[in-house]
Amino acid sequence: MFADIIVDISHENLDKTFQYAIPAEMLEKAVVGAPVMIPFGKGNRLIKGYITGLSEKAKIDESRIKPIASVEEKGLVMESRTIELAEKMRSLYGGTMNDALRTVTPVKQTVKPVVSKTVVLKDRDLAARLLVEARQKNHRAKVRFLTELLQSGSADYELLVGKLNIARKTVSDFEELGVTEVIETRQFRGGAAVQKQENGIVLNEEQQAAVDTVTGDLKNGIKGVYLLKGVTGSGKTEVYMSVIEEVVRQGRQAIMLIPEIALTYQTVSRFSKRFGDRVSFMHSRLSDGEKYDQYLRAKEGGTDIMIGPRSALFTPFKDPGLIIIDEEHESSYKSENVPKYHARELAIEYAKMVGASVILGSATPSTESYYRAKRGEYRLLELKNRAGNASLPKVHITDMREELKAGNMSMFSRKLKSLIEDRLMKKQQIMLFINRRGYAGFVSCRACGTAMRCPHCEVSLTAHMVGNRPERLVCHYCGYEIPMPKTCPECGSKYIAAFGTGTQKVEEYVKKVFPTARVLRMDADTTKDKQGHERVLSAFSNDEADILVGTQMIVKGHDFARVTLMGIIAADLSLNATDYRAGERTFELLAQAAGRSGRAGTDGEVVIQTYNPEHYAIVTAAKQDYEEFYENEIAFRKMLGYPPASNLLAVLLTSGDEAEADSCAEFLYTLMSACFEAFDAAEQVSMIGPSKCGVEKIKDRYRRVIYSKSADYGLLVRCKDSIEERIKDDKAFEKCSIQFDFNPMNGY
Ligand code: ADP
Ligand code: ZN
Ligand code: ZN
Repeated sequence: MFADIIVDISHENLDKTFQYAIPAEMLEKAVVGAPVMIPFGKGNRLIKGYITGLSEKAKIDESRIKPIASVEEKGLVMESRTIELAEKMRSLYGGTMNDALRTVTPVKQTVKPVVSKTVVLKDRDLAARLLVEARQKNHRAKVRFLTELLQSGSADYELLVGKLNIARKTVSDFEELGVTEVIETRQFRGGAAVQKQENGIVLNEEQQAAVDTVTGDLKNGIKGVYLLKGVTGSGKTEVYMSVIEEVVRQGRQAIMLIPEIALTYQTVSRFSKRFGDRVSFMHSRLSDGEKYDQYLRAKEGGTDIMIGPRSALFTPFKDPGLIIIDEEHESSYKSENVPKYHARELAIEYAKMVGASVILGSATPSTESYYRAKRGEYRLLELKNRAGNASLPKVHITDMREELKAGNMSMFSRKLKSLIEDRLMKKQQIMLFINRRGYAGFVSCRACGTAMRCPHCEVSLTAHMVGNRPERLVCHYCGYEIPMPKTCPECGSKYIAAFGTGTQKVEEYVKKVFPTARVLRMDADTTKDKQGHERVLSAFSNDEADILVGTQMIVKGHDFARVTLMGIIAADLSLNATDYRAGERTFELLAQAAGRSGRAGTDGEVVIQTYNPEHYAIVTAAKQDYEEFYENEIAFRKMLGYPPASNLLAVLLTSGDEAEADSCAEFLYTLMSACFEAFDAAEQVSMIGPSKCGVEKIKDRYRRVIYSKSADYGLLVRCKDSIEERIKDDKAFEKCSIQFDFNPMNGY
């Protein structure tokens, strides 16, 4: 027997299977998906690989085929379905097969299980007789052991050998005699322990109709993709849970993707109340043991529901029947690493493979998904009203140019300031949203205008403050860090200072203006540790603070009943991004932020501070009018040929040498256009570039990008395939790295 093996090294030249012989003693373990060690190359260095296929025939001269060295004992065998998914991923997004395999196996190794042992009494009469005997012989340990078991019937093994000081040998002796038995039970790390609890919610008509549509299809064996569009607070989560109930009733499992780790706590506790311990969650902050145990529980059928960020899609359920993608518009569903897959698209492909349905949920669907729903590719389900009796908040747009004219130079408009005072007086809670962490954007010299930049990445350094002084300057791309200079490195002036606004600065300002208010801050810096998110969120919901200042972390999905004011400090930060999704992202953020206020009956208010009060994204977000936003947005996308009206392939080329980056990018452009010519499709594609990326250099690598636009996604994929093949063994590209990004979420 022979095995086709993918080596665990991501390099274009090794992106193929290699054939190895399976020694007779490994035949049983060497199955498809098994991790193996193989001798590789001239030196026969041992490296890791995965079996992706088996055959009885040698593809090359049999004498040249080496045998597998060993099958990895601790490695997990991949399911053939997982390999199939990796193949799909590779074909849609590029990268090597090894990259794809790594991505679809978030848990790779077994971790020593935690097992609890219980000693159980089997033969009471025998035990009683032996106890008499032990007493006579004055065997104290045996007396303690038998007395304990006769009394309780069973005892924890660790307790016996620990507290009761009984030798392990004694325990096993009794087991051999048939007096007792040791029972091992597997403990699972990382689960959520919540009691099931009735929430007493009766679905409203809209919710029920949405549930009925999906469950009706499920009962009839129809698998579909549904877009559940419902304003924030309309009760989408209740809909998900009711549909999951039906899926579980059919003996199948459900995967629920959420955009951020920060949302796990809230979602898991809500789901656990409904489904008890049949709920698992998985994310990157769990320990290896926790991840492995949750993975195993899912694989062995110990759980029905897996909640987690995009990698939870790769949960090895036996028969997944439903995949839910909550907040489907979120950019975090797109991977930033090769392969740059989109979890929404991949989930739909995966669902087709396994016969599952997909629900995409959002208050502000991505332009892509709404476009597809309007064209009938997805079935649209709508929740137009807020659940319970919460009403939509009242939104004020304040023009910061007018504030300046009126002599108000502070961070808060007059409207926002007076509303904060009002809420503090009424003892209601406030959220202040600023889409930038740390203190302030950049530091620059007021004398000569020089901004402090990262020498490796060509971006401004961000000032991090201690007290109210900038102390360190940090590059958010590569982590480069210097102390705040005392004088300008260019002109020597001492007038250098931080400009702009960030969470930390807002926090300090709030404390200064409202000294009695209790303030919490939530951003990447205050939530670094494992429980960080949970700590801040529960403190705020336990009423330990009046004001929560935070980045987009605070606007997404959290449900705080007492928040009646949301202040959006600088709505323009996201508008000024340089990619085609800036409008969509701004609308989403503002609409979601607005949705955070006034969730439970009390009327909420929202203040949006901006320098662009006429921009359609801001105007429509203030009105919470998605339709109007969408009409503007899709017109703009169609006009410029952006997704979903067309498809965009970004090819990123990086090199440590600037001249080489330029020449390789030119060469690559020529190859790509020749490729489209060869397909006889040059007219169906428009190409832009090569050009320098917005961030020209990251970690000392120069970055160039080539964009190709085409209505035909398949054409772009074919071009990618042939370019990957073409450059594999080409010396000209040896020192470059090339990545493909289909319909990118961010500008390059
Ligand atoms: P979404 O996921 O759309 O933001 P949620 O499912 O979180 O909305 O619901 C918002 C709030 O309304 C929650 O507190 C939820 O318990 C409540 N809720 C949802 N559906 C109902 C209902 N049918 N009746 C009463 N309250 C409801
Ligand atoms: Zn200067
Ligand atoms: Zn840098």
